[in-house]
Amino acid sequence: MDSGPPGEVFSSKKETGGLDELPSLARVIAKHGLAAKKSLGQNFLLDLNLTEKIARQAGDLTQCDVLEVGPGPGGLTRALLARGARRVLAIEKDPRCLAALGEIAAVSDGRLEVVQGDALEIDARALLAPPIRVVANLPYNVGTELLVRWLDPGDWPPFWDSLTLMFQREVAERIVAQPGGKAYGRLAILSQWRTTPRIVMSLPPEAFTPAPKVHSAVVHFTRLETSRYPADAKRLFWIVAMAFNQRRKMLRAALKAAAPDIEDRLRAAGIAPTERAEQVSLEQFCALAQTFQPEPALR
Ligand code: SAM
Repeated sequence: MDSGPPGEVFSSKKETGGLDELPSLARVIAKHGLAAKKSLGQNFLLDLNLTEKIARQAGDLTQCDVLEVGPGPGGLTRALLARGARRVLAIEKDPRCLAALGEIAAVSDGRLEVVQGDALEIDARALLAPPIRVVANLPYNVGTELLVRWLDPGDWPPFWDSLTLMFQREVAERIVAQPGGKAYGRLAILSQWRTTPRIVMSLPPEAFTPAPKVHSAVVHFTRLETSRYPADAKRLFWIVAMAFNQRRKMLRAALKAAAPDIEDRLRAAGIAPTERAEQVSLEQFCALAQTFQPEPALR
């Protein structure tokens, strides 16, 4: 488990101000009637030491705007503010949480803005100023979809500098997976092509209220300014999706529909046509995508 950058302390009384005087999260939940709803993926972190540790993984926030999706009762929100975030924009779908978040905003020196709504529908970019870091204990039901949008925004570099995100442990392992195993697939390629993802914390179910069935992990993604290997994004994700859709088949069969001369293209990319998708490295997939320049026309 990694710790945050050395020598950084942003939790002195001066910076945290009235945040220190807020009631415990258990009391906040009781006061505002925030019984967790499964449909909203609500598993709350009530231990402020833990939320502080997660916020620390995002590095120095003092010069950054932070986007937080799903603040809930505000445990992580408090930690982000206590670490001196320049500004926090928190998007929460559950209107029941607004009063609790309002209490945090009241002692945040104007640094917290809460927007009620669905993070999948709100264009946060318009509400933030660079540099921007995304930090969130994501709702499990929309976590992967948000991640895919952040990693494939159309234009690169994206609006954010880094992502520090909580996932189910199994999803975190798919993000950092290397070739050769069951966890390796589209999410690994998408994540590793244009960022460096690292698992920086692991959390047992008991860390959350209520406890989920599965373990969780925090992944920190640092964006690369340009992709790790040259390729066109659409062609890369197209060929990777096709390859992993039939991951048990040899690539010459799984990719038959991609081109009549697929075996030649595979060989040109340094891939044996008899290999399966999970054996192919990111660099080889990029080389394969490059053999499709400038065709076929996509989208
Ligand atoms: N950040 C809090 C914490 O660490 O205790 C809560 C995390 S909880 C796993 C996920 C939060 O995301 C919940 O507060 C839930 O209401 C909210 N949420 C669920 N779906 C959402 C969506 N589509 N847009 C914004 N927030 C959402």
